[in-house]
Amino acid sequence: MTFIRKTKQREAICSAFEAADRPLSHEEVAKAASQHVPNIGIATVYRNIASLVEEGWLTPVEIPGQASRYELAGKHHHHHFLCRSCEQMFDVEGCINGLSALTPKGFVLEDHHITLYGLCSDCR
Ligand SMILES: [Zn+2]
Ligand SMILES: [Zn+2]
Repeated sequence: MTFIRKTKQREAICSAFEAADRPLSHEEVAKAASQHVPNIGIATVYRNIASLVEEGWLTPVEIPGQASRYELAGKHHHHHFLCRSCEQMFDVEGCINGLSALTPKGFVLEDHHITLYGLCSDCR
């Protein structure tokens, strides 16, 4: 996917996602991007993330009761692990079998979302 990184703010925001390789919240992006663009404001982060979602470069990761995170669009099927201590979200490889066995008779299973909760290796 090609698009122009119009501003150095956007460049810093895109780099933050590429370097992290896990879903990031607005606050995490602001913190990471501020290492390249020291005076980057949270409103700028919100605005750029919204347009990156619109352009299909980022996709939202929504979990009930949690601030939205965003990750690079187009990743293969995966799930997430949320650390309850530092609240960082991580990608989890693989999936679980047998979900169709949970599906009520006569229903058609089309999609699923699975989030693991616990402590990351730094927090445990
Ligand atoms: Zn943690
Ligand atoms: Zn799955």
